[in-house]
Amino acid sequence: MNILTINAGSSSVKFAVFDTATNKQLYKSEIERVVSVEEAVRKIPDFLIAENIKIDAIGHRVAHGGAKFKDPQLINAEIIKAIEDCIPLAPLHNPLSLAGIKVTKEIWPNIQQVAVFDTAFHQTIPERAYTYAVPEKWRAIGLRRYGFHGTSHKYVMMRVAEELKLPVTHLRIISCHLGNGASVCAIERGVSVDTSMGMTSLEGLVMGTRSGDVDPGIFAYLSHTLGLSVDEIEMALYKESGLIALSGIGNDMRDIEKEASLGNKKAQLAIQVYAYRVRKYIASYAGVMGGVDVIAFTGGIGENSTSMRKRICERLDYLGLNFDDDKNISVKLTDSEAPQIQMDNSLVKVLVTQSHEQWMIAQEVFRILTLKITPASQFPPIPIAVSAHHIHLTDQAVEQLFGKGYKLKIRNQLSQPGFWAAEETLDVIGPHGEIKNMRVLGPCRDFIQIEIAETEAYILGTDAPIRLSGDRDGTPIVTLRGPKGSIQTEGLIIAKRHIHMNTKDAEARGLKQGDQVEVAVDGNGDRDLIFRDVMIRVDPKYVTEMHIDTDEANAAHIHHGGVGALMPVKGIAAHITHRHSHAHYTEQSFCLNCREEKEVA
Ligand code: ADP
Repeated sequence: MNILTINAGSSSVKFAVFDTATNKQLYKSEIERVVSVEEAVRKIPDFLIAENIKIDAIGHRVAHGGAKFKDPQLINAEIIKAIEDCIPLAPLHNPLSLAGIKVTKEIWPNIQQVAVFDTAFHQTIPERAYTYAVPEKWRAIGLRRYGFHGTSHKYVMMRVAEELKLPVTHLRIISCHLGNGASVCAIERGVSVDTSMGMTSLEGLVMGTRSGDVDPGIFAYLSHTLGLSVDEIEMALYKESGLIALSGIGNDMRDIEKEASLGNKKAQLAIQVYAYRVRKYIASYAGVMGGVDVIAFTGGIGENSTSMRKRICERLDYLGLNFDDDKNISVKLTDSEAPQIQMDNSLVKVLVTQSHEQWMIAQEVFRILTLKITPASQFPPIPIAVSAHHIHLTDQAVEQLFGKGYKLKIRNQLSQPGFWAAEETLDVIGPHGEIKNMRVLGPCRDFIQIEIAETEAYILGTDAPIRLSGDRDGTPIVTLRGPKGSIQTEGLIIAKRHIHMNTKDAEARGLKQGDQVEVAVDGNGDRDLIFRDVMIRVDPKYVTEMHIDTDEANAAHIHHGGVGALMPVKGIAAHITHRHSHAHYTEQSFCLNCREEKEVA
């Protein structure tokens, strides 16, 4: 599913397209210094046509969803009205989102559109934390903490958990989004329990041009002493405060840091106030959660300013945080890395990562749309093919083993289009034994790979790792013996069980490349079993089919012609036990954490 994400801001409209089946970002752009959001959004189709990109759904970032929405919403007249109703809570931002939605509805009237609210992630904040101690009448009209940057904090939570290989339910995370707008979020075991922005995006940290926390008493004082109106004070707190006010040189942290290093006292104070406020929030949220396991930095300043990260963390040692200056300095983010910058003995981990908000919006849209897909019971079972041991060769290896200029001969086509069994076989020799006449499969690849079952690894006398095709790092060396020569090669693996899934079938089931699911296998009534950790591999050319090896087939007492059914959850097609939540998977050959491959061979 190709999802267009739109983030309509006051100075630019950011948009991107993601293919959720393959997890790839197809396009990303930004229309800057927009005259109007409408005008900018109207330009998007031209960009997409130029790149020959078709879209299936649209996700809009919407700043304020009030107290109503804890999930993204499919946009209809009722949702548009609800976003309009929230305009008083976000007078600068919600009208921009509405303008974007209006135009995309005109351009793509038949495409599903989803509103992803910045406030939604914070709907779990308990009453004691979201309640302002103000008159009941005021609270009755919506005065409470809502919080923002929810999409970013949620992404950070998922990325941190993934990096640490722990479920979110095991972690207390303090996520610091330090951009032009900035907020801190306390995330306790997977849910937001407090955040520094409040009813509006003015509360909390010092920001580029916003003051963050001030004494509400200043309204009366400024009115009495300077004769300022409420509107004037509000405007100054939004646009003329924060770093720009303190530094006197602008709101760009790079410039402020440079000036501070040259001895500019105002710039130095701006940095001190900024860091102090963040540290104060971190400490208070550690108190709120009864401790902290991870502090995560994101946003332009969080990702890039080594000195700011150090300044914020340097007096948090009493929490068990042991900061590592060298690791901090060496952070260089290019995509979705999440390096850790604490000492090995630190009780608190400190991670730095980019905030992939657009990617997260696409994930949210996909989640909401696929929640509404066809129930599990309506899908046919998945055919199972038992993959006997086999060898993939390179052109060069074919010549070494079968003679110069030799070409493999096709014996029979395999079920996946373009793949065939060759007439040729080879002997595989390990340290303790050998397997004779193992079938070669074609066409040739640019690497050698020998796929066996675990029992055969015992015969060879070596430990073959369980891997996806193409992941040959650290695989054992064996000898291949052919009629005209022998070669020693790495590439011995036990294939990770997987399902080749046609793109349409995957989308209908709400699945995408790299997902792991559970499959109940019909073992003819004698040995029915459920396979966990079955990898989904998606390609438009695939015939949907599950591949298991001979050991697995024997365990389930199935032969060719067997079938499996995806284990559903709450009536939805598949229980996804693992899903990549990181964008770097789109750029790397392999997921850096779980070694799953990106491209389908
Ligand atoms: P927005 O909230 O508008 O998305 P960003 O997340 O892009 O903002 O963050 C902008 C801030 O990040 C600016 O203050 C900018 O100076 C700061 N920043 C970007 N790069 C660096 C850097 N290398 N060192 C310090 N600050 C940086």
